[in-house]
Amino acid sequence: MGIIAWPDWDWPSLPSSVTFTTTPPITGANLPDRTLVLTYDDGPGPNTLPVAQYLSGMGIAATFFMVGERAERQLEILAQVRALGHRLGNHTWSHPHLIDEVKSGRDVADGVRRTAAVLGAIPRPIAFRAPWGEWNLEVANALAPIADEHVGHIHWRIDCTDWAAWRDGVDPTVVATWYRVHARTMKKGIVLLHDYTADDPVIAAANRSAELTRALVPMLIADGFTFAPLDAVIAALPLPA
Ligand SMILES: [Zn+2]
Repeated sequence: MGIIAWPDWDWPSLPSSVTFTTTPPITGANLPDRTLVLTYDDGPGPNTLPVAQYLSGMGIAATFFMVGERAERQLEILAQVRALGHRLGNHTWSHPHLIDEVKSGRDVADGVRRTAAVLGAIPRPIAFRAPWGEWNLEVANALAPIADEHVGHIHWRIDCTDWAAWRDGVDPTVVATWYRVHARTMKKGIVLLHDYTADDPVIAAANRSAELTRALVPMLIADGFTFAPLDAVIAALPLPA
């Protein structure tokens, strides 16, 4: 089948020195052709479990980048997502603009540390994704206190702004065709999707990521794509100089 199920992945086989890196962006560009890594941001939300259950049934292990202040109140969802064979990632405590925060001299490491505590006893290093992908050397340096138990920033290669589609009332099957076309063009890489939307309750309430996922995955399989866990990308990262 070519689908790599999460429990079959040889975790952890990471060099302990792999940690925060600033260049090149971690996008899954080194994956074999027609290999995708599915990632979902901003949860947990009402669509998180339906997405996780569907993907698990398809033998696909995704990564859910959780927002700490929401995850803290929904620990049962986190446990179920993990039990379904998926990976939890750290998407900060309150989804701040990290570059601005660091410029203002605020402590950005604390929110990441608190979120890691909420995610619990998951394998280290924890995959980290900066909100909006806003990442630079200053942010990496500011997160040095928690670098030893995280790896990232995990960026993406395939993104069709699903959140904007929910804002605009676009049908999930239409959004699925956008991602299908982009995946065909990009051929491989990390796919960015949202099982919730931080900071915008209206868009969050309109989220149809479960329907999108159920429409998209069969399209991608029909196109010959296979799915790898994020571990495949992390394990292949070059060591920092
Ligand atoms: Zn986000």
